[in-house]
Amino acid sequence: MNDTRIALVTGANKGIGFAIAQGLGAIGFTVAVGAREEARREKAVERLRAADVDAFGVAIDVTSDDSVAAAAATMERTAGRLDVLVNNAGIGGQTDGGAQDPTTLDLDVVRTVLETNVFGVVRVTNAMLPLLHRAGSPRIVNMSSNMGSLTLQTGPILAAYAPSKSMLNSVTAQYARRLADTNVIVNAGCPGYVATDFTGFNAPRTPEQGAAIAIRLATLPDDGPRGGFFDDEGVVPW
Ligand code: NDP
Repeated sequence: MNDTRIALVTGANKGIGFAIAQGLGAIGFTVAVGAREEARREKAVERLRAADVDAFGVAIDVTSDDSVAAAAATMERTAGRLDVLVNNAGIGGQTDGGAQDPTTLDLDVVRTVLETNVFGVVRVTNAMLPLLHRAGSPRIVNMSSNMGSLTLQTGPILAAYAPSKSMLNSVTAQYARRLADTNVIVNAGCPGYVATDFTGFNAPRTPEQGAAIAIRLATLPDDGPRGGFFDDEGVVPW
């Protein structure tokens, strides 16, 4: 088996996910660029290869059982194992004047956000775990947000998005407990407030800055922290 470490990043065609792919590529990972739309995926792969990253595209829509199963089959066929999974794909969900008001909340918005930000992570993680178990030091990074922190309660009122990240944090802790006696290390990371499509490019941090925490958690040593929530400054309160 090839010794080069393999990482799969979901939602890697743009934004923070692209920067994570580029950053992992720069430190020697072969990067599977997980993206749902072919043209966007191939463009990202081309850009990464132009930056000397060993990248290949993997079709993956995290909301689809079939798509995720096919992506796992592609990873099995092309790499045979997975060293790092970054569950980065995420959506904010429909807003009304920049907010999701809990008192008038459309439950379909909640369902849609949970389907991507939480169920998508579980779906992808479970499909990829057999491949992760074959790696020497497997790492799973879930891209969360400090908006999901019940202690900080920060950002605008987003009654679908913020709770989806709270639940993602909780799910991360559940995986860490379940995998405590294995070499699979699972953590959640917050990228800070980053200029991407997601924020209308109206935020102070660059995608590269947002990617840094994911890269750190993806390359933790074997005695690194498990089941935590971190940003560049350290531990983020739950
Ligand atoms: P972007 O909107 O720029 O990118 C989101 C990525 O997720 C895109 O590649 C998008 O693909 C992909 N995606 C969405 N739905 C799916 C799906 N069903 N299947 C596969 N891919 C999907 O967002 P960011 O880069 O800003 O955000 C990345 C992550 O970081 C998210 O989880 C977000 O919640 C989190 N985050 C971002 C913050 C910020 O300030 N930007 C702050 C805190 C957390 P497509 O192009 O096809 O739509």
